Amino acid sequence: MRAMRIDGVPASPGYAEGPLFELDRPPVAYRRKASPAGEEAALKAAIGKAVRRLTSLTDAADADAAGILEFHIAMLQDDALSGPAIAAIGSGEPADAAWRQALDAEIAGYEASDQDYFRARAADLRDIRDQVLRALSEDSEDAAPPGAILYGTDIPPTRFLETDWSKGGGIALKAGSTASHVAMLARSRGVPMVVGLGDLADKPAGVALLDAEHGGIVLSPSPAEIEAFHQSSSSFAVQQGKAQTFLIQPAVTKAGTPVRVRVNIAYPSDVDGIDIATCDGVGLMRTEFLFGKALPDEETQYHAYRRVLEWAGEKPVTIRTVDAGGDKPVPGFTVEETNPFLGLRGIRLSLARRDIFRVQIRALLRAAIHGNLKVMFPMIATAEEYSQAAALFAEEQAALAARGVAHRLPPLGIMVEVPSVAIAPEAFANVAFFSIGSNDLTQYVMAAARDNGAVAPLNSVHHPAVLRLIASVAAFGREKGIPVSLCGDAGGDPAAIPALLEAGLRDLSVAPPQLATAKAAIADVSV
Ligand code: PEP
Ligand code: MG
Repeated sequence: MRAMRIDGVPASPGYAEGPLFELDRPPVAYRRKASPAGEEAALKAAIGKAVRRLTSLTDAADADAAGILEFHIAMLQDDALSGPAIAAIGSGEPADAAWRQALDAEIAGYEASDQDYFRARAADLRDIRDQVLRALSEDSEDAAPPGAILYGTDIPPTRFLETDWSKGGGIALKAGSTASHVAMLARSRGVPMVVGLGDLADKPAGVALLDAEHGGIVLSPSPAEIEAFHQSSSSFAVQQGKAQTFLIQPAVTKAGTPVRVRVNIAYPSDVDGIDIATCDGVGLMRTEFLFGKALPDEETQYHAYRRVLEWAGEKPVTIRTVDAGGDKPVPGFTVEETNPFLGLRGIRLSLARRDIFRVQIRALLRAAIHGNLKVMFPMIATAEEYSQAAALFAEEQAALAARGVAHRLPPLGIMVEVPSVAIAPEAFANVAFFSIGSNDLTQYVMAAARDNGAVAPLNSVHHPAVLRLIASVAAFGREKGIPVSLCGDAGGDPAAIPALLEAGLRDLSVAPPQLATAKAAIADVSV
């Protein structure tokens, strides 16, 4: 077969060489067994498989994620959970239907509870139900071989997170977008990713070459193409190596202007392997991924925040309160909406579910004594939202003080990612700082969804309308003495850095693998 190169858009730079693994294959249907004994054995084997899978995830997880996984394992190993399903199998039900009915009944019970804690646990049960159903029906080919290039329409964040990337591999998407959350995760873990490849008519077996530096994939490569690919990937590695010389230096432009460069993280374990001397602290810790599949309790959150604060020492750590919703659904917390990016997302959801928000606030107040914490609110559109969120901090602070619990009130700032704030920042002259979320600001200004590849060319931070808003927020901050930073993905993009510095920004936050290249790009700017 002749070699075929298909062009797409680079979403996370790098090179990968491996077999294509199709993400969009239809789920394999469960095949009924010959007898109830066979059905019971199949169910027990599937539960065992789900437990082994969770155990192996636990080994690689940080302490907080491990806590959630261990809770799932304990539930799966509890005979009380499988008992009703085994009884139904005894009355002639196949294993998959018996398990689904038993778990659905259990889930309905949790959902009907008048206590938040139990309602939140319904999400865990749904997860457990689906893991066993998946184990029941999957064939042994469901797992991608190590080093494979995952190919499909899109890839959910959970699939990304459960894939072992230590053996290489990459992501090639028919659709997708460079601004999606999974693209952000790929950049932060250094996984090569290309989006917008369209349908690959032929998907030959054998090795494919993913060029996520320029954006493309080569199928059935000739020896000459493989050779050229190896050359490009080694010169990419050399280029990255050169940028490394900037890593340990403070960032300064050609004109000698200092720029602060911080990191964006999503899990406490993301800081493992980052030398704090190479960055100016954490510009954004997204907390919604901690909320992943189950709502984390106060202790889990406290330990997660404390770990990052202790790692950073005196350097600032900006933790964002949960920004669930949009393309980041959290079972048991977010709601089904027809247009989730314009719906109950970020601070709107937190203010609507104060019981859940207060748990996070207490964890943040307690963690604040362990370092230089700042807290910011996502998706702020009005000054009232900020005041309400700040009032909840004050209330929880008073309650902790009354109980004699050690805590500190951190400076409270806001994300500037809704155009109303960028256009009229004067309503926010009382906030401690602004952090521009260029991902959302761009999608809302350009009316181009960040996760929709079909409108990706419109979703550009380079558009004068977006840059003008960024420049005006930077100018407002300078005038009022309010620090302004940027934590959207544009901050780590060498092609966007000159425009951001020209717009007046001097404080960027980037995915950890982008620290060196961002500093190298800053050194090339003449402001
Ligand atoms: C942003 O919108 O730019 C941002 C940093 O937040 P998130 O990507 O998590 O929505
Ligand atoms: Mg955002």
